[in-house]
Amino acid sequence: MRAYLDNNATTQPTPEVVDAVREALEGEWANPSSVHREGQLARRRVELARASIASLIEAKPRDVLLCSSGTESIDLAIRGVLGARADAATPCAIVTTAIEHAAVRDLTSALAREQDVEIRLAPLDAHGVLDTDAIAGLLDDSVALVSVQWANNETGAIHPAGRIGELCRARSIPFHCDAVQMVGKMPVDVRAPEGPAFDLLTLSAHKLHGPKGVGGLWVRPTVGVRPVVHGAQELGRRGGTENVPGIAGAGVAAEQARAWLADDAERARLGVLRDRLESRILERVPGTVVNGPREHGARLWNTTNIALPGLEAEAILMVLSDLGVAASAGAACSSGSLDPSPVLLAMGVDERVAHGSVRLSLSRFTTEAEAEHAVGAFAAAAERLGFAPTPPAGGR
Ligand code: PLP
Repeated sequence: MRAYLDNNATTQPTPEVVDAVREALEGEWANPSSVHREGQLARRRVELARASIASLIEAKPRDVLLCSSGTESIDLAIRGVLGARADAATPCAIVTTAIEHAAVRDLTSALAREQDVEIRLAPLDAHGVLDTDAIAGLLDDSVALVSVQWANNETGAIHPAGRIGELCRARSIPFHCDAVQMVGKMPVDVRAPEGPAFDLLTLSAHKLHGPKGVGGLWVRPTVGVRPVVHGAQELGRRGGTENVPGIAGAGVAAEQARAWLADDAERARLGVLRDRLESRILERVPGTVVNGPREHGARLWNTTNIALPGLEAEAILMVLSDLGVAASAGAACSSGSLDPSPVLLAMGVDERVAHGSVRLSLSRFTTEAEAEHAVGAFAAAAERLGFAPTPPAGGR
């Protein structure tokens, strides 16, 4: 058996997504900007998919802009809002956190280096959850944007996006939320009057069993965004001929995610499966440590971040892969490097714990047998690598 539990577990496209991509490649290959019949067929496919994606977050289709990835969506949200300010040349500040995805962290660092943008990092509690009261103290008239994730990609920790939105709204500061981990896994409603007050929201198709290379940015109609990639497409907000097959697949993935989300019991069932996987590992391998919150409701149903303190994550991942379990460490892009996850370090996780931390992620399709297989493989990997249960002080 092979259990695919790495952070891209949700990347496996469904058969219907594969069919949609193939059909678009075969039958809707014309340029959707062309006026001829073939072009209009491709345009229709793009617009139907946009409507499905919009409906997954209860948005209007015209407010959802399609692009090449979650990363591009984030780039456009952040640069776009800064660039659209009337006083775009004056120095400003962005409030964010140290545990954002690299798409936010690296971009904001570059803006600080190159464009005189001050980056204010909001403090986190001991489990890596944002301290909202402390965020309030960081907001003033020089803040041009707050950009905070909804759920963390490494620990699954869910941040109080609603409260952050309220704080931003009270000061008329645009709030960009990286909801890549949330959309498709939990219900998201950008309009809910009592819900989070987003101004911009990022999603990515491959986190909901859609194809890689398709992202979306929802923009509240009253929020100005200056294009980063110029061109006529996407109402002039993002140039470039649309990736019709990818977008077609993303549309089907969004429809399927919406149907799946209608049944709360399914999420609860998978949450129980994740909890059992985690507690079985803790039981079988004394000395293992879970990073991030564990209380009910504080974490996405699909993620667990577990450490064998004193070991190297890369070694654990290789042995796990040998034993039939695909897992990941930190963000996918930092796998292969020996540096521990900057997210875990920013949460205050001890270095020995951070070095030995791996992430197991479930998808909608993960079975009990796969989870049990992962428990056995984890225990066997700990033994093969000579794991000695001596958790340091400070590990949680
Ligand atoms: N934000 C978060 C929280 C993510 O987990 C990811 C991808 O893993 C991204 C942004 C980037 O999305 P993409 O891979 O589509 O560029």
